[in-house]
Amino acid sequence: MRQSLSLFNTLTRRVEPVAPISEGQISLYTCGPTVYNFAHIGNLRTFLFQDLLKRAFRAAGYDVRHCMNITDVEDKIIRDSQGALAAGASNEERHAAMKALTDRFTTIFLEDLDNLRIQRADHLPKATDYIPQMIRLVQDLEVKGLAYAREGSVYYRIAGLPQYGCLAHLDREGMQAGASVDADEYERDSVTDFVLWKSAKPGEPWWDSPWGHGRPGWHIECSAMGMELLGDRVDIHSGGVDLIFPHHENEIAQSEGCLGHRWVNHWVHGEFLMVEGQKMAKSLGNFFTLRDLVAKGVDPIALRYAIQSNHYRKVLNFSFEGLRAAENSLKRIRAFRKRMEGEGQTGGGPWAEALDPKARLDQARLAFGSALADDLNTPEALAAIFTLISDLNAQDDHVALTREERDAVLAFLDETDAVFAAWPHETASLDTEVEALIEARRAAKGGKNWAEADRVRDQLKALGIVLEDRKDGTTGWRRF
Ligand code: AMP
Ligand code: ZN
Repeated sequence: MRQSLSLFNTLTRRVEPVAPISEGQISLYTCGPTVYNFAHIGNLRTFLFQDLLKRAFRAAGYDVRHCMNITDVEDKIIRDSQGALAAGASNEERHAAMKALTDRFTTIFLEDLDNLRIQRADHLPKATDYIPQMIRLVQDLEVKGLAYAREGSVYYRIAGLPQYGCLAHLDREGMQAGASVDADEYERDSVTDFVLWKSAKPGEPWWDSPWGHGRPGWHIECSAMGMELLGDRVDIHSGGVDLIFPHHENEIAQSEGCLGHRWVNHWVHGEFLMVEGQKMAKSLGNFFTLRDLVAKGVDPIALRYAIQSNHYRKVLNFSFEGLRAAENSLKRIRAFRKRMEGEGQTGGGPWAEALDPKARLDQARLAFGSALADDLNTPEALAAIFTLISDLNAQDDHVALTREERDAVLAFLDETDAVFAAWPHETASLDTEVEALIEARRAAKGGKNWAEADRVRDQLKALGIVLEDRKDGTTGWRRF
């Protein structure tokens, strides 16, 4: 039977079971990147959490249909792509310059996803390919009395929709109905009619529309692509918490204003990645890209693990210490996998604390699944794996697990890797790595660099290896 998964729903502010609209299927829309620059690892935290969400549903037996848009027309893109053009440049030239910038950063973004083992969405629509759908949606809202045109731009009339503010839990009293903003991003204390279609300013690329030359506002892009590709009823829609207001609130207004019924059942938001107490953001200049970290020798999968080992609804402070801890945890899991791939060597005889490996494995499987089903509790899911590792390592030291038991453990590691994507079957020999570390420790001791020697010993410990310094000066090792 398929396991039911529960997620915190921003709409109701409760953890609720996700009840699929179609049996066994989940439609998932996640707001994608604005491709004017490199994604920073704060952005990537959100995409990593959504990847885990998708994998958790797939692992639980659901067929997930995922749509992630690429925002390739927007204020910042226009700002950064048009600067080098002459004042008299044609509209075609302006579009070409915009496309050159967004194509470049779309490719880079997709490479980042691959390096982090983030599965590609089934649909990756570009906003510029859906302009007719956006125009039709705005026209429909006009017909319904929910939108009005003014000087070539079109605005949403928030007073016309009673549920406006339901997602961000806004106080309707404080809204300034009738006043309008042209900016796509604004704060909760300036809740006004928002822009759906922007009239073209000099020096901007434009499309023809019933309101003259112009371009879509950011919010209408996701409503149009989401409704076109996933339909009139969607199971889950997700983004970072900064998208709750105004972006997602406005998506609800647009889509539900047009449809006349609820569009999305579950709204799921991931918390921020912070740096020294501040949100990581391009505008604050306090960010790292994945490339910055790789240049410093960080394995992208260690970043993946560091982020996923924290609960998605908790603020996470980025640190290099956290990355190192993640590397050590990963080494421990991988060393355990290696041990299970090999044959049991020890035969310590009867052991008072002996356990039934199969029963212990069933227990871990249950704990892992239940933790994920409870609002993607990744720290608990990982704890289930680490407890299993300690218990079975101890058992294997005394009473070697049989080949069949070892294979059952390996199957469980594959199942859990389908969600975390961080400990795949590897061919590189762990023994070679251990021998290299022992050699590094020997050199450190030879140079009387005791701190370094201790550091390497700790590193080996994290791999599940204990060293035995022998009288003859050589060092042996065993797994614990
Ligand atoms: P953008 O490319 O700016 O549209 O953002 C892409 C995604 O990254 C959105 O879902 C944002 O909510 C998310 N995001 C932006 N900054 C952070 C951060 N510091 N931590 C986590 N997610 C973020
Ligand atoms: Zn969006």
